[in-house]
Amino acid sequence: MSEPHVIIAGGGIGGLATALTLQQIGVPFTVFEAVRELAPLGVGINIQPNAVRELYDLGIGPDDLDTVGLPAREWALVGLNGNDVYAEPRGLEAGYKWPQYAVHRGRFHMLLYRVLVERAGSGAVKLGHKVTGYERRMDGSVTALIQRADGTQLRETGTLLIAADGIHSAVRATMHPGQQPIHWGGAIMWRGTTLGRPIRSGASFVGLGTHRQRVVFYPISHPDPLTGLAMINWIAEVTVDKDDGRYSTGWFRPVKVEDFAHHFADWTYDWLDVPDLLRRSDVAYENPMIDRDPVPTWQDGPVALMGDAAHAMYPTGSNGASQAIMDARQLGAAMLEHGASEAALRAFDRTFCGPISELVLRNRGAGPFGLLNIVDERCGGEFDNIDDVVPVQERNEFVAKYKAAAGFAVEQLNNASPTIKQGSRLRQTVRA
Ligand SMILES: Cc1cc2nc3c(=O)[nH]c(=O)nc-3n(C[C@H](O)[C@H](O)[C@H](O)COP(=O)(O)OP(=O)(O)OC[C@H]3O[C@@H](n4cnc5c(N)ncnc54)[C@H](O)[C@@H]3O)c2cc1C
Repeated sequence: MSEPHVIIAGGGIGGLATALTLQQIGVPFTVFEAVRELAPLGVGINIQPNAVRELYDLGIGPDDLDTVGLPAREWALVGLNGNDVYAEPRGLEAGYKWPQYAVHRGRFHMLLYRVLVERAGSGAVKLGHKVTGYERRMDGSVTALIQRADGTQLRETGTLLIAADGIHSAVRATMHPGQQPIHWGGAIMWRGTTLGRPIRSGASFVGLGTHRQRVVFYPISHPDPLTGLAMINWIAEVTVDKDDGRYSTGWFRPVKVEDFAHHFADWTYDWLDVPDLLRRSDVAYENPMIDRDPVPTWQDGPVALMGDAAHAMYPTGSNGASQAIMDARQLGAAMLEHGASEAALRAFDRTFCGPISELVLRNRGAGPFGLLNIVDERCGGEFDNIDDVVPVQERNEFVAKYKAAAGFAVEQLNNASPTIKQGSRLRQTVRA
């Protein structure tokens, strides 16, 4: 039986996690990434304990992750009046066997790239190669259509094509030519990082405000031992008129802080000065809250979608990157069971497309931030004691429901067997 070869479109977090997984289980692959040079782009993201477990299983442990972020300790929602709505421990403090990491997206991405090149060689990732579509072949294999940065074309044939080419996926557009345009729900986020002194637990994710206007911030580096200052990631968000069509295309656009800081001009507390946090930022990006309507399937014969190409979602649940890592591992597990074959992609699609598509829709309903909606509806965001507005049991149940749906409920995760057992290798290719 001939050796399989997997083509991976896109070398973002999902594509590189897939490549590392295939390298681990012994499936030959090549990553085709559109940009000519990878750079540490983006600001903060969270990697949930389920995905951290997978990183550890890939041999990327706390020593590595501490160079690009830090373990999160708390998740808290605070009302506009500065009073706590909800707070809970996170990661190890919450009883998970694995921490949750708050990391700099670009530095984490470069860490994955460095580890992959060390293990698989620099030829494993072809930069400046944009996948523009694919053609299925009579023998069950697939040809990826590729445009090089110099304008020349390439046709690359493989056993399987895994699409990890993000929210604007060309592979998804080929698979679902009638798909809806990008969906924008009316919120705009501005993101940036500022050096500051971590508050509360020292590694707290804080969502402050209402469901229509809020600021989220959390540290994404350990504090400097000399100054005590850490890199603080912040997201300032407002809901605007939904009919402004320009936001259905934009993604990460650099902007000036003055362009949006006026929305938060009087957000000063004795424990936080939001205007100051924004003003001292190194960078600021405008990032409309966009996702895609779910599609009925992520699979077309030897082609499968994963990561944002499959299920771009609002970042309200902090699980876009985690889900991309989980997809990579689930694809690897399916290949161990069914071979590097169409059957593996079918099994992956059947198990995950339905529930993860539901998660995409659930995140539109504000995800765990939905608690702020309830507070707003019941008291307009003004309260002295949150127990009088939303009883503790209701608050706990609300957040627990979200966590179970996203696959990071504590017991469920702690008791789950490894997605890929250490030492597992693919022995043979099984055709569907
Ligand atoms: C530059 C950048 C910055 C980001 N910053 C943040 C952030 O600060 N906070 C946050 O929450 N999320 C951010 N995201 C999104 C976040 O990384 C993803 O939601 C999540 O990690 C899922 O990863 P993914 O690999 O599926 O998609 P992505 O991370 O979007 O990766 C897709 C990759 O595919 C490449 N690509 C795109 N089209 C093609 C093509 N046709 N052929 C080949 N390659 C292609 C892209 O260059 C990219 O490297 C960012 C994404 C990018 C690309």
